[in-house]
Amino acid sequence: MKSLTDLTFDNRFARLGDAFSSPVLPEPIDAPRLVVASAQAMALLDLDPAQAEEPVFAELFGGHKLWSEAEPRAMVYSGHQFGGYSPRLGDGRGLLLGEVRNAAGQHWDLHLKGAGQTPYSRSGDGRAVLRSSIREFLASEYLHALGIPSSRALCVVGSSTPVWRERQESAAMVLRLAPSHVRFGHFEYFYYSKQPEQLKELVEHVLTCHFPECREQEQPYLALFRTVVERNAELIAHWQAYGFCHGVMNSDNMSILGITFDFGPYAFLDDFDAQHICNHSDDSGRYSFSNQVPIAHWNLSALAQALTPFIEVDALRQTLGLFLPLYQAHYLDLMRRRLGLTRADEHDQTLVERLLQLMQGSAVDYHLFFRRLGEQAPAQAVASLRDDFVDLAGFDQWASDYCARAAEGDNDQDARRTRMDAVNPLYVLRNYLAQQAIEAAEQGDYGPVRELHAVLSQPFEAQAGMARYAERPPQWGKHLEISCSS
Ligand code: AMP
Ligand code: MG
Repeated sequence: MKSLTDLTFDNRFARLGDAFSSPVLPEPIDAPRLVVASAQAMALLDLDPAQAEEPVFAELFGGHKLWSEAEPRAMVYSGHQFGGYSPRLGDGRGLLLGEVRNAAGQHWDLHLKGAGQTPYSRSGDGRAVLRSSIREFLASEYLHALGIPSSRALCVVGSSTPVWRERQESAAMVLRLAPSHVRFGHFEYFYYSKQPEQLKELVEHVLTCHFPECREQEQPYLALFRTVVERNAELIAHWQAYGFCHGVMNSDNMSILGITFDFGPYAFLDDFDAQHICNHSDDSGRYSFSNQVPIAHWNLSALAQALTPFIEVDALRQTLGLFLPLYQAHYLDLMRRRLGLTRADEHDQTLVERLLQLMQGSAVDYHLFFRRLGEQAPAQAVASLRDDFVDLAGFDQWASDYCARAAEGDNDQDARRTRMDAVNPLYVLRNYLAQQAIEAAEQGDYGPVRELHAVLSQPFEAQAGMARYAERPPQWGKHLEISCSS
């Protein structure tokens, strides 16, 4: 275990120089205090969890202190926002403090979000509010606990610094960890601003640091693109299977690593609704739940465009064509597991689609359905779930087909339940649970956010005294307006 002060830095991105990022020092927030820390994320840096309680922890992650080996920089990138190209975005309120190399030799970017203004702030204040910082923290760590690739969050530090959004709020910082903060928008920036040498340097950097296996391939750049397509197919399959709605799939929010990245007005579905739009500024529903699949494909084609100086268009197009079939295969695989089916069948896609159609409009809680389906043997489980559905005849037909499928193979209910419980979370990061924890934190009570984080870090296991976190959301909790300002 290391102490906070003896982290080893190796700032590979900073060494790319000023065409890629600008040196900026964090602007501290007043009276920094630890709101919540993730022991699991601390372990990635070999840090003892007890270190979070040291005063220096909140000082470092509140922008008051800095390691001498850190080289804080704001990265430049661009991106397609809601389909339109923004030629220059960049880190307007976050800084890449540096890259830490842990004992296992892995590199982790330390990115401090809410660290003040940068050359890319445009009219923004460079700050993040406590509310959005807690939301990013909870989602990053929860997705990871579900087994969904995501950037991680080390901690949230709160402050007394006032910030204006729709109302006065307080500033906070969240320390994000990821092996890389390079986004699709980085490639677009150098492509559209006609800097071919820097574009090549960026591709080389990403290959060397993050995709060394692609170097072995005949066409390393094409292999890189193919890997990004594969990882995104797997990522989006997880989002769809677990009911995660990202909300702002702009190409500047898409990580080159294929991990969930940049949390805004995201939501996990409560009742199943394929058309759910979690972002209230998304008037056309571009980023609705079911649109996440075609939008991921769209973003990959935006990345492909930026790679046209190096790769034949036909090869890019062919590789892009792998996305949908790969997505579909991953998605069906995940859904089969969620349904407790151990073997693939040609009718599985229809079985899943019919279930979702029945759920749609019947106010069926998407998460509890799968959990309850595993709690009893198939026939009893469907009987007790039946009352939730409006189309009873349709459900009976589905249930009978499902029970026939479930009867194939291993029929031991204990084994089935163990298998299903391991993939169907009991605890879900619901908007209203996050909101309750945020309201307490805004009053200076950090107990609820720490408890929620602790419960969600083991989402598949029933925890004593935590039943209230596993309940169906109250009616008011399903229709919260989550502000997009952050
Ligand atoms: P986001 O919607 O968080 O992905 O942000 C889109 C762009 O706006 C990025 O370049 C951010 O750095 C920038 N941005 C968002 N909020 C602020 C803020 N309060 N101050 C400065 N820049 C911001
Ligand atoms: Mg962003």
